Amino acid sequence: MTSHELHAGRTALVTGGSRGIGRAICRRLAVEGVLVAVHYGHDRAAADHTVKEIENHGGRAFALHAELGLPGDADQLWAAFDHILDGQTSEPGLDILINNAGITIPRGIADVTEADYDRVFAVNTKAPFFIVQRGLPRMRDGGRIVNISSAATHIAYPQIVAYGMAKAALDYLTLSLAQELGPRGITVNTVAPGYTATEINPKLAVPEVRQKYAQASVFHRLGAPSDIADVVSFLAGDQARWVTGQWIAASGGAHLGR
Ligand code: NAP
Repeated sequence: MTSHELHAGRTALVTGGSRGIGRAICRRLAVEGVLVAVHYGHDRAAADHTVKEIENHGGRAFALHAELGLPGDADQLWAAFDHILDGQTSEPGLDILINNAGITIPRGIADVTEADYDRVFAVNTKAPFFIVQRGLPRMRDGGRIVNISSAATHIAYPQIVAYGMAKAALDYLTLSLAQELGPRGITVNTVAPGYTATEINPKLAVPEVRQKYAQASVFHRLGAPSDIADVVSFLAGDQARWVTGQWIAASGGAHLGR
């Protein structure tokens, strides 16, 4: 089987697919034959860029807008998805859902405001919860759900306490859904990136910070978005049919030792 046939005929939705890790996941799934909905919240140009890149390599994708973290966000997302899919030649419905969109609040407990707390949970926890709830009727049996969490949920990281809590709640969603969706043959897993070179953390622009984060990995480098996308692609494919309810760190062994 060539890589082009791995996921052929399937449809995926990648939240936050326009940039960073999500963009790499979109590209990777598209190379494998998936029709990809490239979701974005604010930056249409980035989403269009990702779609164009995919099309230039012979893949199929479309941009999908919905700002997450607002009341009704999941309904808005699925309405846009249904509307666009109506105009495609593919079957309606979904095979692969990647809950990737996320924000960080880089503050310790003393400085987190109520608004910060509500926002990080609204985008990182509440949005995926209702996207799954409203998406399940559209999902075909045998489907795949991958939640993008963070390696930070398994280590103490006081500087991003609210972010870590929001992602830890998402980890629980994986466990619970995996149990519930087993009878439909749908697998649900978490991929937990470590320090990855994207725009989510502005401090990564500082060379000393980059260096410090790179040293956390046993390979002494930052993760690339494609390092995460390869793991997600495996979990989204048939070869991972026996893997569900798992939390898989894609962190280059970050913080394995001291
Ligand atoms: P990124 O480069 O900042 O990209 C974030 C993506 O999420 C963008 O597509 C963005 O689209 C979308 N997004 C953010 N807020 C949104 C909102 N309110 N509504 C709709 N879309 C929204 O981040 P990344 O590093 O790729 O992160 C991807 C995931 O990996 C996140 O869940 C993050 O927590 C997790 N993660 C990242 C790292 C890391 O070191 N990079 C480490 C651990 C975990 P718009 O800009 O258009 O809104």
